[in-house]
Amino acid sequence: MAGLKGTICEIVIIGNEILNGSIKDTNSGWLAARLHELGLSLRRITTVRDDVSEISRAIREAMRRGAKWIITSGGLGPTFDDITLEAVAKAVGRKLVVNQEAVKMLKERYERLYAQGVIKDAELTRARLKMAIMPKGATALRNNAGSAPGCLVKARGVNIVSLPGVPRELMDIFENEVKPRMEQEAKKLYRVRIWLDVKGVPESVYAQELEKIYRSLKRKVYLKSHPRGIIDGVSATRIELVSEELTKEKAEANLIKAEQMVRKMLEKLGAIEVSVER
Ligand code: ATP
Ligand code: MG
Repeated sequence: MAGLKGTICEIVIIGNEILNGSIKDTNSGWLAARLHELGLSLRRITTVRDDVSEISRAIREAMRRGAKWIITSGGLGPTFDDITLEAVAKAVGRKLVVNQEAVKMLKERYERLYAQGVIKDAELTRARLKMAIMPKGATALRNNAGSAPGCLVKARGVNIVSLPGVPRELMDIFENEVKPRMEQEAKKLYRVRIWLDVKGVPESVYAQELEKIYRSLKRKVYLKSHPRGIIDGVSATRIELVSEELTKEKAEANLIKAEQMVRKMLEKLGAIEVSVER
């Protein structure tokens, strides 16, 4: 959607298991939906191997493209292949140090697990302490759903957020630690969305008209058709309308206008049925 720009972000998904197909990446889709709701502009999702150079290059490239928030997923755990924070440190030219806030979080976590009888020893072993080693100046982000704290590094006006790969841990830290910071700092766009279910006019028939409407609304309402195939002998599609503006009122007004224009156009083309889902 041209003309309007929320704060630009990128996602870097890390893990050999994603690239070799053994685990399906669900984190990027979940994060993309949250960023969209928050009114930020996600520009790219990159997936890289568990490799320090590859990860740090992906982060540096995102910074060069102008991302103000970069979210990484995976590689924060205690095992040898968890090297994300080493790569973040490399990308921004910082040293790795023991983060005292993170040490405190890990201590609390293992003492709790010990008290619950889950582990035999609450000691911060080398493997456990590894999760507190973060780039200098980083903020540790509390993980209520697992061990490895998340990490926020601010460098040259860019926020680099590193989250664990385990989905419920990533979600927990994002909701409680990242979202409030984004709401405070990021330049927001207000977004509203509806779906029109259309029967009886195929995409190829209304495509050009849809584009005309999109242009006439100065590209402020994104109009995207999704084919659903032939249902009960007629062509079925869904049209997604997403309106974004700097104020909620404007976003809603543009959406109403777009809906009216699309409905009128579909009627003219002989649609059998147009229903709306808000
Ligand atoms: P841990 O502390 O468990 O090691 P971590 O931050 O090191 O966490 P990874 O080792 O990268 O995370 O991944 C742990 C597990 O989380 C993987 O085995 C996989 O099941 C899941 N996972 C990782 N990345 C993703 C992803 N992008 N989408 C969905 N699941 C993922
Ligand atoms: Mg791991």
